[in-house]
Amino acid sequence: MGAVLDLAERLLGGELDPAVHHPFAPLLELEELSPTLGFVSSFANVTALRTPEGLLLLDASSAWMAPQVRTLVRAWTDAPLTTLVYTHGHIDHVGGAELWLAAEPGARVLAQAELPRRFHRYRLTAGYNACINTRQFRVPVRWPASLRQPDELVQERRVLRLADEEVELRAARGETDDHLWVWLPRQRAVCTGDLFIWAVPNAGNPQKVQRYPLDWANALREMASLHPAILCPGHGPPIIGQERVQRALCETAELLEDLCHQVLQLMNDGAKLDDVLHAVKAPSHLLERPYLRPIYDEPAFIVRNLWRLYGGWWDGNPANLLPASERELATEIATLVGGAGRLVERAQALMEQDQLPLACHLIELAARAAPQDPAVQQARAAIYRRRAQTQTSLMARNLFLVAAEEGGS
Ligand SMILES: [Zn+2]
Repeated sequence: MGAVLDLAERLLGGELDPAVHHPFAPLLELEELSPTLGFVSSFANVTALRTPEGLLLLDASSAWMAPQVRTLVRAWTDAPLTTLVYTHGHIDHVGGAELWLAAEPGARVLAQAELPRRFHRYRLTAGYNACINTRQFRVPVRWPASLRQPDELVQERRVLRLADEEVELRAARGETDDHLWVWLPRQRAVCTGDLFIWAVPNAGNPQKVQRYPLDWANALREMASLHPAILCPGHGPPIIGQERVQRALCETAELLEDLCHQVLQLMNDGAKLDDVLHAVKAPSHLLERPYLRPIYDEPAFIVRNLWRLYGGWWDGNPANLLPASERELATEIATLVGGAGRLVERAQALMEQDQLPLACHLIELAARAAPQDPAVQQARAAIYRRRAQTQTSLMARNLFLVAAEEGGS
């Protein structure tokens, strides 16, 4: 067993804590899952199928990882690349395509029918995407000016034949509206794209477009109905063994279904967003699974995404329908309590009592009422640093750290 499958074993066996040994961390190794199926652990993984009729790649990895990924794949096989399938259009999965196609221009690129609309949106919102990804990952992100367009689009389902291998592409909505997951019946392998990522599903991301949790769960159930023995995920190592794969797929579906069910029930009862946010709880026994820890996204963010999916933008608070500016409100409250300094004092006291959500609300009021006051900014930075330390998800932690670092509001 190589390092990639060894990582999976140790995570599944509880020997490694996913919060410490993040399953996303690229090992930059290719591991053979069968004599003809290679899996490259990159940040976004690449699965390679070699056949007498050429090489099939599922995802191309990112522009920055593709040179290393290509070296690994080319050390494994010299079969010419004939087909590259995008599991979805996120840049860490497709950004490497240009490198592959520059070297092997004869290959065709297949994607789900919605993918070109994503690329169009990326052109419209390049600055926004650079900004939000810089915040999410806390590293400077430059958004690509262009991405390799697909040559062929898949509407719902398509079966490719490469020598004696069938490659079944199935369209789904989940993390994105442009997913294709892939079933390789001869290998008994399912390649999930980001419908499985060794973490709570990225179905709530606070800065990004709509996600589709129930469609996502349905896709996972469909995969499980095929009884795969190998699961090649979008991020993190493969899972081997029919029973384990079944459990990983079904439990991920169950988590999403449970959250959807709770949110819909409250919405149908006429609840407001605040009630929904504080009433819905993700099943704790599922969050303990090594592949469902909230280390990337956050169940509470999924609840908000469901509210957006099934409802409107209004949270149900009439004051928020046509609100005053945050600064006007903060100034009014600061005046009422005797100045921004009083808000800071109370926020610090709440922080000491570990009441961090409330501390954040009060320090934001202080920062808006007195944006130039260095003492307010200092207190604000300390509160958000503390808040970040309490977070398990990368998204919440990094957004709080960015707040701590910005020194203004
Ligand atoms: Zn991904």
